Amino acid sequence: MTGPTPATIANARICPDCDGFGAAAVSSGARDASGQLPTIAVDCPDCHGTGTLPLRPRLSAADVEVAA
Ligand SMILES: [Zn+2]
Repeated sequence: MTGPTPATIANARICPDCDGFGAAAVSSGARDASGQLPTIAVDCPDCHGTGTLPLRPRLSAADVEVAA
């Protein structure tokens, strides 16, 4: 995890794919000659690294069609 805490924007929905942690550090293999572990930052494909998704408008009963 690259962020210390998940996203906490009050008017947005936490991304269900990453639970608010929009980016992660992924190791790219073995340690290099200096002993460091190379990592790359990868963004969540659903929220593109923001950790939140915009709220969708609520559906009204007139908008819902039920097929029987
Ligand atoms: Zn996400």
